[in-house]
Amino acid sequence: MEHPERMQLSHAPRLLLGAGPSNISPNVIRAMSAPMLSHLDPEFIGIMDDVTTMLREVFGTTDGFTFPLSGTGHAGMEAAVANLLEPNDILVSASNGYFGERLSNVAERYGVDVHQVTGEWGKVLDLDAIEAELKLHDRVKALAVVHAETSTGVLQPLDAVGELAHRYGALLIVDAVTSFGGSRISVDDCNVDFAFSATQKCLGGPPGLSPVFMSKTAHQVIANRTSPPATWYLDVSLLQGYWDGSARTYHHTAPITMVYGIWEALRSILEEGLDACFERHRRNGIALRAGLRALGLDLLAPEESFVPQLTTVFIPSGIDDTAFRQKLLAKHNIEIGSGIGDFRGSIWRIGLMGENSTQANVLLLLSAFESLLPLWGFEVPIGGGVSAASKIFSQR
Ligand code: PLP
Repeated sequence: MEHPERMQLSHAPRLLLGAGPSNISPNVIRAMSAPMLSHLDPEFIGIMDDVTTMLREVFGTTDGFTFPLSGTGHAGMEAAVANLLEPNDILVSASNGYFGERLSNVAERYGVDVHQVTGEWGKVLDLDAIEAELKLHDRVKALAVVHAETSTGVLQPLDAVGELAHRYGALLIVDAVTSFGGSRISVDDCNVDFAFSATQKCLGGPPGLSPVFMSKTAHQVIANRTSPPATWYLDVSLLQGYWDGSARTYHHTAPITMVYGIWEALRSILEEGLDACFERHRRNGIALRAGLRALGLDLLAPEESFVPQLTTVFIPSGIDDTAFRQKLLAKHNIEIGSGIGDFRGSIWRIGLMGENSTQANVLLLLSAFESLLPLWGFEVPIGGGVSAASKIFSQR
């Protein structure tokens, strides 16, 4: 049989300013090429311990259990549902976007009694509506929310949600896939019981690990289950035997190089400082919003609750969504995200996550928009977007 001659992969690097994955930091790539160790090597166990310690710091917990689950963000989502909830347990899933709905779908597959409180896409959740649902049931096992809804760019404040969940004796599950490492999450202060994220967003790593946090209460609830979770691979009690304590019982072969990668990603965030890192994301998000507005574009997420690392902007009428994004890719080598769910075809999603959240990328993207929008007859003040963003950067 004839085989085509295959050369090395040789595609050009892209600037990934979509909804994730974002570009991988060179430091992370370097760390991932460190020599292979076995998953039970004492040296590797030291790296694992360091990862769990750094995760605790970024999640904002002193005594919760943290570790990176093998798998993408969905693995964390599925682990939350499969471990905390048993068939027929009641879950109130508050959803104002695509990923809130996804968690409800996952829970239904595990036989959970899901009650979804559906909020308007593009707005923060209505706490009164959630409370009304919590009141309807005798015993709600958990409330689930998305911290940074990637389909709309809306950031959900967690403190009041945490207080509400605990007032009704419910555990709080938080999807922190897009927020973790870009916005403060403070799981202890906000009474979060289970949170999960992913490495390909603000951590600046490749997709493949899902950092999770579990509170002591969640741990107790899982220990008191009447039957083991229906998943073996995502059983956090078994995984705890490998990631925590002295036993280090083999569960599955850890993806060693990915663990090196998250180690470096966390190390560099902590070296920058959490406050500085969150402030960098906030400032660049504000500057991008100012620049887009100056070009005459309308933003979806409100001023009081936008995700700084993911800006959502309405596509002006007359502009072909796909053709515009293709041109941006072909001419400027920049990827931005299309809308999903209710906003498919009507918004673009622009990520400034992790390493990609820089002044240079804000200005580059705005100047690319200035040159492309007029091709579809949408006239913009040339230099207006860049100038509005620069004004933000010049403020101390
Ligand atoms: N939750 C949110 C808020 C997300 O943005 C995503 C992915 O973009 C996920 C969950 C699923 O993560 P993954 O695609 O890594 O499985």
